[in-house]
Amino acid sequence: MMHKKAIAAFALLTFCCSTGASKDARDVVKDVARAMGAASVKSLQYSGSGIYSQFGQSYLPNGPYPRFYAKYSRVLDYEKELSREELVRTQFENPPRGGGGQPLYREARGVTFASESSAWGGSAVALTPYGWVKAAMAANPTMKSMTIKGKPITVVSFTLKDKYKISGYIDSQNLLEKVETWMPNPILGDTLIETTYLDYKDFGGAKFPTKIAQKLGGLPVLDLTVSDVQLNAPVSIEVPRAAPPAHVESQKIAEGVWYLAGTPDPNSMAVEFKDYVVLIESSVTEARALANIEEVKRLVPNKPIRYHVNSHHHSDHAAGLRAFVAEGSIIITHEMNKPFYEQVVLKSPHTLEPDKLSRNPKPAKFIWVKDKYVLSDGDRSLEIYAVPGAGHTANLLMSFLPKEKILFITDIFNQFGEARPNDPPPGIVSPYYAALGENLKRLNLDVQQLAPSHGKGVVSVELLRKALEGTVQAPTVTPPSGN
Ligand SMILES: [Zn+2]
Repeated sequence: MMHKKAIAAFALLTFCCSTGASKDARDVVKDVARAMGAASVKSLQYSGSGIYSQFGQSYLPNGPYPRFYAKYSRVLDYEKELSREELVRTQFENPPRGGGGQPLYREARGVTFASESSAWGGSAVALTPYGWVKAAMAANPTMKSMTIKGKPITVVSFTLKDKYKISGYIDSQNLLEKVETWMPNPILGDTLIETTYLDYKDFGGAKFPTKIAQKLGGLPVLDLTVSDVQLNAPVSIEVPRAAPPAHVESQKIAEGVWYLAGTPDPNSMAVEFKDYVVLIESSVTEARALANIEEVKRLVPNKPIRYHVNSHHHSDHAAGLRAFVAEGSIIITHEMNKPFYEQVVLKSPHTLEPDKLSRNPKPAKFIWVKDKYVLSDGDRSLEIYAVPGAGHTANLLMSFLPKEKILFITDIFNQFGEARPNDPPPGIVSPYYAALGENLKRLNLDVQQLAPSHGKGVVSVELLRKALEGTVQAPTVTPPSGN
């Protein structure tokens, strides 16, 4: 008996005084919950300002994303696992360079929701400090210890919805310093998201970081200084209905030429040749690209889509690129895209959301364009030109039908049919529009109609001519107050 008691006492001693060796991942999560005051947090509102960089809208393929001044606010309902993020962007790049709606002459406001029906099932809530604690508590976490930059760090990992591996980096104060996970992306495949949380301060009993930085695919997207935090104020997040499925409505704009309008934006154009069809522009999603392909097969049932013209590498214009590789089409694109498309877009694993190409791998065929490339069957021809000098992107291509006098143009001339923050004030011409005007003059193209990728259909070239009657001027860049 004495012996047993001694063992029990020894065990107790070991337990009480161990330096963490006997702690398991769940204990670590409990320590983090205590240190951050997470248990009492049912809702959260925070706001701040900083720099936002627009994912997938770089000037150069694989280059850094264009920056904007940002005012940011977020509301989280942890009980319903809902999130609403609001971002107000103003022009930062000077001169304007890259996409994301530049050049912005006014504030651009955008709202993003996370819920069960949004991208990757609302798992975004689990990437926020208290959301991570709650998700880790409900999961089956594992842990490992490491030293990062001389500091001891405990990494606690778990799998959410049987799919997303989420890791939290815990410092010696039991504060969550970083959360990382992978999300599916149609261009980059499984894409790393890293969110860093630093400079925790006390806000009414709970600790929250005042510096938040996020990287997507290794490149910065957000650098925020938090100025206001409110815990457990009543919140009401009204999640909009899920987007309708991809849908195409084709408009015949000339014999054998169709403008493929529909949702989600942007749009495409199909051109029929003697033995094949050319489809210009992919889309913002694989689903829209597949809907475009299906519509072309309905319009021209007996001819293959032999060529796909890709205007540039931006996320809203190249997300369907892989669908065309799967279709067996030859991709016509700017030569600057070669390393990005061959080494990244075609090689990145797509395990989180397998697309058509990853399910049925096929080799890709490319035609790399430097200045000009012409497709012709002796009767019809399609001229594909590089558009230098447009600050939107260094590798933009436009497609011209000389006989029909129709120009398919992407991003430097849009017709959304509504006022946009990049509409210049009266008398001012956006430098992106001016670049288009200069290129049409340089190439001496007799354009009568413009088919804008962001648009509702073809418009007269007169619209561009009118827009160019003013002074070319980029917006004045002034940091918003509070930055
Ligand atoms: Zn673009």
